[in-house]
Amino acid sequence: MKLVLATSNKGKVREIKAMCEDFEVIPYSELIEEFEIVEDAETFKGNALLKAHAVFDALEDDDIIVIADDSGISVDALEGDPGIYSARYAGEDANDKDNLHLLMQNIRAKGIESSPAFYTAAIAIVTKDVERTVHGWMYGTALTEAKGEGGFGYDPMFIPLGYDKTLGELDDEIKRELSHRSQALSLAKKLLKTL
Ligand code: IMP
Repeated sequence: MKLVLATSNKGKVREIKAMCEDFEVIPYSELIEEFEIVEDAETFKGNALLKAHAVFDALEDDDIIVIADDSGISVDALEGDPGIYSARYAGEDANDKDNLHLLMQNIRAKGIESSPAFYTAAIAIVTKDVERTVHGWMYGTALTEAKGEGGFGYDPMFIPLGYDKTLGELDDEIKRELSHRSQALSLAKKLLKTL
């Protein structure tokens, strides 16, 4: 079964491919030119659906399944920020490093060195006839210091519950077992079998 991913984020593509070995996983940018999708919904679920529909419509192929992920990190000490704004926390043109540093700086500005935090992933599945969404979460601690080079995005400042190293330091394999995206994807895979 051919699964088209409505993302070209290399970190996400790598993780989703590794978790969906039974499917042919293709980022949409390998099929059509990448285009901007305005993510202006108010929830992860809303944004995931928006992305999946935008790519499904653009591909003009009734035989494909599009899956989109919208995800982010929510920090307790910052009242849940950056949440759905995780990708553009440091501005529209910000990259992962800018966002990571701003988040550590804003936690530090509260006079603390760490805060409980969690990642959320919403996955939307869109076909010609069906629209579905599933969610996954990963809880842990957000630090004011980045450690390790693994993962992507906010991973170097996030220690998952039950561990004493950041996702930047832990093996990809461990992240695959724990992550918000893995939890959501395992539900998505069950759903895909029913389509
Ligand atoms: P999206 O592409 O709009 O879903 O943006 C997600 C944002 O949250 C990006 O800034 C990512 O770097 C961040 N993010 C989502 N999932 C993860 C993850 O597993 N690790 C680190 N950062 C993540």
